[in-house]
Amino acid sequence: MTRLFRYELIGTDGGARRGVFHTPRGPVRTPGFMPVGTLGTVKGLTIDQVAATGADMILGNTYHLRLRPGHETVAALGGLHKMCGWDGPILTDSGGFQVFSLGAINKVNEHAATFRSHIDGAKIELTPEHSIEIQQALGSDVAMVLDHVIALPAPMTQVEDALARSIRWAARCRIAADREDQALFAIVQGGLDRTLRQQCASELAAMSFEGYAVGGLSVGEPPEDMYTTTGFTTPHLPADKPRYLMGVGTPRDLLENIARGIDLFDCVMPTRNGRNALAFTDEGPLKLRNAVHKLDTRPLMEDCPCLACRHSRGYLRHLFVAGEMLGPILLSHHNLMYYGRLMQATRDAIEAGEFEAFKNAKLAGWGHEPFQETV
Ligand SMILES: [Zn+2]
Repeated sequence: MTRLFRYELIGTDGGARRGVFHTPRGPVRTPGFMPVGTLGTVKGLTIDQVAATGADMILGNTYHLRLRPGHETVAALGGLHKMCGWDGPILTDSGGFQVFSLGAINKVNEHAATFRSHIDGAKIELTPEHSIEIQQALGSDVAMVLDHVIALPAPMTQVEDALARSIRWAARCRIAADREDQALFAIVQGGLDRTLRQQCASELAAMSFEGYAVGGLSVGEPPEDMYTTTGFTTPHLPADKPRYLMGVGTPRDLLENIARGIDLFDCVMPTRNGRNALAFTDEGPLKLRNAVHKLDTRPLMEDCPCLACRHSRGYLRHLFVAGEMLGPILLSHHNLMYYGRLMQATRDAIEAGEFEAFKNAKLAGWGHEPFQETV
């Protein structure tokens, strides 16, 4: 196996890990947050603005790019990096989650998940091999295996079947993924069940992937169930590989899962919420449409270097009330900057051996108690 990709564990503080995921396109500092560039763009922001938030790696969505503009078009435009102008590492998901959540599934069997495009209704067969083929054409640095995602809660036999299939599909992806310059991450499934999660983690760990994701969480379960599940899953993952919690989450979710050994996150929350006039701060989220901000001359945060915090809360509110496009742009930038700075401060706290106190102080600011498992 190639050593172009390597996870370096710099230190730990309790369950939290400080590390670097080395890739041919540069280092990814962990814990780290990956902004989501669904269609080859982090919505509303230029690539320089994204870089300024401290992100080392961004994410692209295989399902969306397969449909628009099409992976062959992306390849013809020089690949995803060249197309969107991002020189650093890019991670692409496998398309599995979107196929099962957006596509009209008409068949899942051992061979493939067959779905209809949510754009034009075209019938598309997504096999593990085709998912890898698309991700290779996009040219991402990290590809994800295709997994069989099911809606929870579901009968135990259905969860077990999907899990067993996901492991077989991961093995097929492992064989199909033959690009030296592209790492492959496996995805641990198993719902909220401790035994299934641990069994899945152990089986995938034995197959030697470059990284491991915890999937199937943040799909509507209480956050505490997510933390508990992460907590009993990560001890069964290799310590010398990065761990990525997919599609998570709130600032609180990030810190509670870092405490349980997670290194990487992605989520649309900073940009999606930003477009909807919600700004993250150390005192909890601010809803900028509220009248209370109308005459407020303060920035969102005094020490924030983002584009929004050059302006008053009153001006930002005005932009949203007037429907000006600058409002969503500025708040998207602020929120990604908030996440980026939160991750930098987290890395510093872990290095200083002060993560626990740092986490508890942040949680208190957001109005949360630290979560402690009862078992
Ligand atoms: Zn700001």
